[in-house]
Amino acid sequence: ERVIGGEVSEFDERFEQSLRPQYLAQYIGQQKVKHNLEIFIEAAKMREESLDHVLLYGPPGLGKTTLAAVIANEMAVNVKMTSGPAIERPGDLAAVVSSLEPGDVLFIDEIHRLNRSIEEVLYPAMEDFCLDIVVGKGPTARSVRLDLPPFTLIGATTRAGALSAPLRDRFGVHARLDYYDTESLTDIVVRSSKLFEADIAPQAAVEIARRSRGTPRIANRLLKRVRDFAQVRGNGTITEDMASQALEMLQVDPLGLDHIDHKLMMGMIQRFRGGPVGLDTIAASIGEESTTIEDVYEPYLLQIGFIQRTPRGRIVTPLAYEHFQMEMPE
Ligand code: ATP
Repeated sequence: ERVIGGEVSEFDERFEQSLRPQYLAQYIGQQKVKHNLEIFIEAAKMREESLDHVLLYGPPGLGKTTLAAVIANEMAVNVKMTSGPAIERPGDLAAVVSSLEPGDVLFIDEIHRLNRSIEEVLYPAMEDFCLDIVVGKGPTARSVRLDLPPFTLIGATTRAGALSAPLRDRFGVHARLDYYDTESLTDIVVRSSKLFEADIAPQAAVEIARRSRGTPRIANRLLKRVRDFAQVRGNGTITEDMASQALEMLQVDPLGLDHIDHKLMMGMIQRFRGGPVGLDTIAASIGEESTTIEDVYEPYLLQIGFIQRTPRGRIVTPLAYEHFQMEMPE
C-alpha cells in the first residue's frame, strides 16, 4: 500500500471522511482561496442567491473534495457528489441535477474527464438552469427542456489545462489550491491527532508535516502509520524519535520523497544522463503509468525544483544531483 500514490481505497475514504473539516474556520491553510470564498459566500447569502459555480484545481490530496463539502455547509445546503467518469450519458447527468434542491451544490470530481456530449448538456444547465435532453431515437427523437432549480456546480480537477475553454469560462470562481507549507501541515497533523485521541509531541508533528510533500492527505496517512508504530513499539505517545523511526521504515526521506520518486530520479539520472527525456519514456522505464507520474509525482518534484520541463523533455536540475549526492554529467 502506497502512502503517496493517488489511489484512495474504500477504507481510506472512510478514514479521510472522519478527518474532514466541516467549516471554513476549521479548514487550515489556503488563506487566499478561503478569504475569497468567504466574501463570495457572504454576498450570495445576503442576496439569497445560489453561489456562483466554482472551479477548484490543484494536485491530488490538497482538499478539493473537502472544500466542496465545506462550501455547501457554509451555504447551509446539501451536496451531491459525483465524478467525470461516472457520468457516461446525458441521462446520468439529468438524474443527478433533477434531484437537486434550490441552492444545492453539485460536486463533479475529475471534471476534465467529462465527455464532450455531456459538457454540451452541462452548458445550459450552468447558465440558465435548464437541461435540453433528447428522448427517443431516429425520426421520433425530440428534445425536451427540463427546468432546474438554481444550483452551484463545483468542479474539481488536477489539470485545469485539460478543461475545454467554454467549460472553464462558465465557472465564475476559479480557485487554485497550492501545496501547503510546513506550518499549516503541522496544524493539520495536530488537529488529526486530537481527533484520533493520540498524544503527539510538537516536534513529531513538525517531522511528519515536513515529510508530507505539502499534501494533507499524505500527512494524515503518515500520521496513521506513525501512530501504529508508536503503539506497537512504544507506549502510544508519538515522540519525535518514534516519528523519525517510523518514517525511516516507511522509506519517506526528509523531503517527503518515497521509493517511487527515488526510482524516477535515479532512472532519469542513470539511464538518460539527466535528460532531456519524455514523460512516456520515463514512465515505461520505471513501469509506472505516465498519468500517475504527471499528476502525482512530477508536480511536487517540479515544485521543489528537482526537475524542469523543457520543450525537449524533462531534465534533472543541479539541486537534485546535490540532494542525491551524485556527480552531474558534463
Ligand atoms: P482528490 O482530488 O485526490 O480526491 P482532494 O484534493 O479532493 O483529493 P481531499 O479528499 O479533500 O483531497 O482531502 C484529503 C484529506 O486531507 C482529507 O481527509 C481531509 O481531512 C484532509 N484535508 C484536506 N485539506 C485540509 C485542510 N485544509 N485542513 C484540514 N484537513 C484537510
